[in-house]
Amino acid sequence: MTAYRNPGRRRGRARRTEKGRQPIPAVVREIRAAVGCEPYRRDLLLEYLHTIHDHYHHLAASHIAALADITNWHMAEIFEVASFYAHFEIVKEDETPPPNPGLRVCTGLPCRMAGSDAVLDAAGAIDGVQPRTAPCMGRCAQAPVAEVGHNHIGNATPDSVRAAVEDGRHAVTEIAAPRFADYRDAGGLTALLGIREGVATGPQAIAAIEASGLKGLGGAGFPAGHKWRLVADQPAPRYLVVNADEGEPGTFKDRHIFERHPYRFLEGMYAAAFAVGAGEIYIYLRDEYRDLRRLIEKADAALRNEIRALPALHIRRGAGAYVCGEESAMLESLEGRRGLPRHRPPYAAQVGLFGRPTLIHNVETLFFAGEILARGPEWYAGQGRNGRSGMRHYSVSGRIADPGVKLAPAGITANELIAEYCGGMAAGHVFAAFLPGGASGGILPARLGDIPLDYGTLEDFGCFLGSAGIIVLSESDDVRDAALNAMEFFADESCGQCTPCRVGTEKAARLMAAGNWDAALLDDLRTVMADASICGLGQAAPNPVRSVFRYFGEGGE
Ligand code: SF4
Repeated sequence: MTAYRNPGRRRGRARRTEKGRQPIPAVVREIRAAVGCEPYRRDLLLEYLHTIHDHYHHLAASHIAALADITNWHMAEIFEVASFYAHFEIVKEDETPPPNPGLRVCTGLPCRMAGSDAVLDAAGAIDGVQPRTAPCMGRCAQAPVAEVGHNHIGNATPDSVRAAVEDGRHAVTEIAAPRFADYRDAGGLTALLGIREGVATGPQAIAAIEASGLKGLGGAGFPAGHKWRLVADQPAPRYLVVNADEGEPGTFKDRHIFERHPYRFLEGMYAAAFAVGAGEIYIYLRDEYRDLRRLIEKADAALRNEIRALPALHIRRGAGAYVCGEESAMLESLEGRRGLPRHRPPYAAQVGLFGRPTLIHNVETLFFAGEILARGPEWYAGQGRNGRSGMRHYSVSGRIADPGVKLAPAGITANELIAEYCGGMAAGHVFAAFLPGGASGGILPARLGDIPLDYGTLEDFGCFLGSAGIIVLSESDDVRDAALNAMEFFADESCGQCTPCRVGTEKAARLMAAGNWDAALLDDLRTVMADASICGLGQAAPNPVRSVFRYFGEGGE
């Protein structure tokens, strides 16, 4: 028999070095001290990475090797996950760790319109600082926004950013929750107590949500009560997942609800869990909202003190991936993987978190579920304007006098919203156009400002309401710049899983940035992206550019 031997190796001679990257014992001890002891759970990988990143302010190869060593997971697997998320700064062996604190300046559309470029330029002149851009920080009403360490600076100026760097104001500023006693004394807890004490059953709660006409307010507009029924009909165990990863530029309503109405949100959340029989709840919280984590924990502790035996609540941090706002990508992330959207069916109501039936809602939907169960479905159904029903939190930013989150009737028009809720246009600005659904919802001219803002209405105009992030443009703004800003955002945020989106967004952004607004070419790209992308990101990315051709070009409508 012929012996096939590698001629480069001599038998009987031991290797001088181990194969692959070896963990450094001192670093292994540090990482073990940071992330704790066994058992290590694979779904907690992002939490471990956050813990390490919070400690070192970056992730080095030695950290990843040490984590792989103590967990017994593949180094490549950990690296693959870490490198997917923008908030994990990975430092290679020949690189110098970034300065601490890091400085990021938002370049989303509302911040750009408010002068973030000047803030970015000035930040670059500060000694020892390497400013980076960030897509959206969920504070569009205070545009422009910068982040020094973990401290966000609203209405940022070159001076305020410099002062924050020099003063060492880098830590998360904690936000106080409203007083629980005030909430309880004002008649709060009605919704939850009704279910807990058997006054209302789970099926009755589901029927109430159905009767109210509440839709999922994260963007899809799927009837909430129907979703509850679908999940309740599936075999246990079931989960409830709260999507608090609002990352659509121009949207900041979750933040508003957490800050002002945490108990009503929690009530709605627990009531939904009881109604569908979910034994555990996960909140996937946007990483830019880390200042809200303590607020939610404290509010929850106050509620649990009053009402016992609530389902277990886990709060998980996102890590700067917009695509994780897509529900199946969020589930992947919660399971400790890259946030790649899943092919559907099966839907999350049948096969969701950890393969179990899962009810997924955003923060606002659960807030209104709490309101409906406390006030009755007729109350919610009786709201609305222009023939529509219900209420919304509209995040309004841009060239208006009073930006912010506005609680207003569903179906209100942009003209009514600006005049009645936003104090009119900002001084010196004339209403010219608006983005009704953040970066992905398209752009409409001011002459269409009397269309009711609701699901199923804007689609006829090539747009959609999405999460109701309304960005108002004036005659001083160029809609092509707005469309380019949106396309660059999508090119950055594409998860890369499918070619039409990965290549299409980049190519469209390059063409547009170079001033090549070739209608036929961009329309070809739009068609491929819209028809062949797996998830809503790639399908909706061409909306703003399509709006530009439809409404603002020569011969436009
Ligand atoms: Fe990823 Fe874009 Fe495909 Fe969605 S459409 S799965 S974001 S590549």
